[in-house]
Amino acid sequence: MIIAIDGPAGSGKSTTARAVAERLGYVYVDTGAMYRTVALAFTRNGVSAESPSAGEIRELLGNMHLDMRFGPDGMQILLDGQDVTGDIRTREVTEVASRVAVIPEVRERMVQEQRDLARIQEKERGGVVFEGRDIGTIVFPDADVKVFMDASEEMRARRRYEELQEKDPDVSFEDVLSDIRARDERDVSRRLSPLRRAEDTIEIDTSDIDLHEQVEMVLRAVRERGNCTSV
Ligand code: C5P
Repeated sequence: MIIAIDGPAGSGKSTTARAVAERLGYVYVDTGAMYRTVALAFTRNGVSAESPSAGEIRELLGNMHLDMRFGPDGMQILLDGQDVTGDIRTREVTEVASRVAVIPEVRERMVQEQRDLARIQEKERGGVVFEGRDIGTIVFPDADVKVFMDASEEMRARRRYEELQEKDPDVSFEDVLSDIRARDERDVSRRLSPLRRAEDTIEIDTSDIDLHEQVEMVLRAVRERGNCTSV
């Protein structure tokens, strides 16, 4: 069983994906973390995310080793053997991530890694939850359950602001709001795998409902698929 959860930044995807995965005994794969890690690799190697040459992209992706591990605290991500789970949550990496995400070779590689992960997880645990932007449309168009989560721009920015403040107390709400607007614009308007709703998706607006309700809505859809009567 593949559960695909897509939506813009701050829509509540990660929290819901994590809770749904926990209830089903699956792991959840944060595909945004994968793009963020590629962004970190670009920065660390001094490769510009704006206009990398074909050779630079080939070399960087050829040498880059990503590893996703799953434990009680969720997904841990390693770049070339080093745990970068915490390092990829800065404003700078966030910004670069949505730039590297438009590079076709990067997307191709990520989709390949994601499909490989799904194969392993379905075999080991019977299912997996993926969250991102293109999961129900491009990565797994045949996913068993597809969900699109959204919330007002203000609310999404407020959530991100609260998260970021723990790391960077100087960040302002206005900065976070303008970052979110710029990122949404890039994610929605890019030519390759833009953020959009799959046709057969369940839409959840998280502006007015709490986590419990969000999780129940997804689990109801899982039950309707008939595979998991115990949730
Ligand atoms: O989900 P998160 O905010 O961590 O994602 C960081 C960036 O990675 C997004 O703004 C988007 O540009 C990119 N991304 C993507 N496709 C995905 C997941 C994330 O393009 N499936």
